[in-house]
Amino acid sequence: TDSVTIIRGALDFQDKVAEDAITPLDKVFMISNDIILDRKTLNEIYLCGYSRIPIYDALPLKKFSTNPILTVEASTSLVDILNSFQEGKCHMALVVKESNPIGIITLEDILEELIQEEIYDE
Ligand code: ADP
Repeated sequence: TDSVTIIRGALDFQDKVAEDAITPLDKVFMISNDIILDRKTLNEIYLCGYSRIPIYDALPLKKFSTNPILTVEASTSLVDILNSFQEGKCHMALVVKESNPIGIITLEDILEELIQEEIYDE
């Protein structure tokens, strides 16, 4: 990353919306709230490597439990989402389009749009 790339990312940032930066639902590691936390499941959770795992009601897939997750429309601007994340409650949001979940977005996804590069964390 260099300054020119960051400035270009910052200029484009205004026009970007949630849908431009999501991790699509089929790539999201999540678990049903009626799962049994046996050794196998705990191991899968450990191996997935993510620090936050969305939990969904078995059916229908529209109410997340545990910590309430912020929900944003696919057309919400990244600027608005960044502002919500800055309030500090949660740095992950569920992205919905026409009331259906289409993916998730985290602070890291937004920062990647700003710096125009992937961030690799451990
Ligand atoms: P973590 O804190 O778990 O490392 P980040 O918030 O840093 O996760 O996000 C890193 C990337 O992984 C982002 O692209 C984000 O959308 C994605 N991500 C975060 N949690 C999950 C999950 N449970 N399943 C799939 N992708 C995820």
